[in-house]
Amino acid sequence: MAGANKTGVNNPDPNKPWCSKCRGHTEFTEEEGTRSSSEGSYTVTIRKCVECNKEIYVPYAKKDGFLHMTIMCFAVFIGFYLLLLYISDLSGDESEKEAIGFLIKTLPVICGGSWLYFTISSGLFYLKWKRWATELGWSKSE
Ligand SMILES: [Zn+2]
Repeated sequence: MAGANKTGVNNPDPNKPWCSKCRGHTEFTEEEGTRSSSEGSYTVTIRKCVECNKEIYVPYAKKDGFLHMTIMCFAVFIGFYLLLLYISDLSGDESEKEAIGFLIKTLPVICGGSWLYFTISSGLFYLKWKRWATELGWSKSE
């Protein structure tokens, strides 16, 4: 199809890191980075495009991340929701019940908001790659 075919760069592969700025599977560097969570710190691999120094991602990993994030947000939501209901049951104070009621109403907004943010950013990345790949004649059935 269209476009120059430098080795690998323009061969769409959803399992290879892709740079959304350079629009290609460019050369990249790998660095170990440390991220911390509530369960302690863990190492992640940060890949950066050699051309523009932007962090790049694997399209299929982004797609999987979307699923994990959906499950996680849902679990956090249900967990907190039940906890708040439980606390609400225990407390006899009206103003406390009101505060908990407010939290219960805010919870979907917080969970939904972070889910939406993540979904949009990773979904857009995958769609960008897919559009680029389709232009180059990539098809999923391959
Ligand atoms: Zn780049």
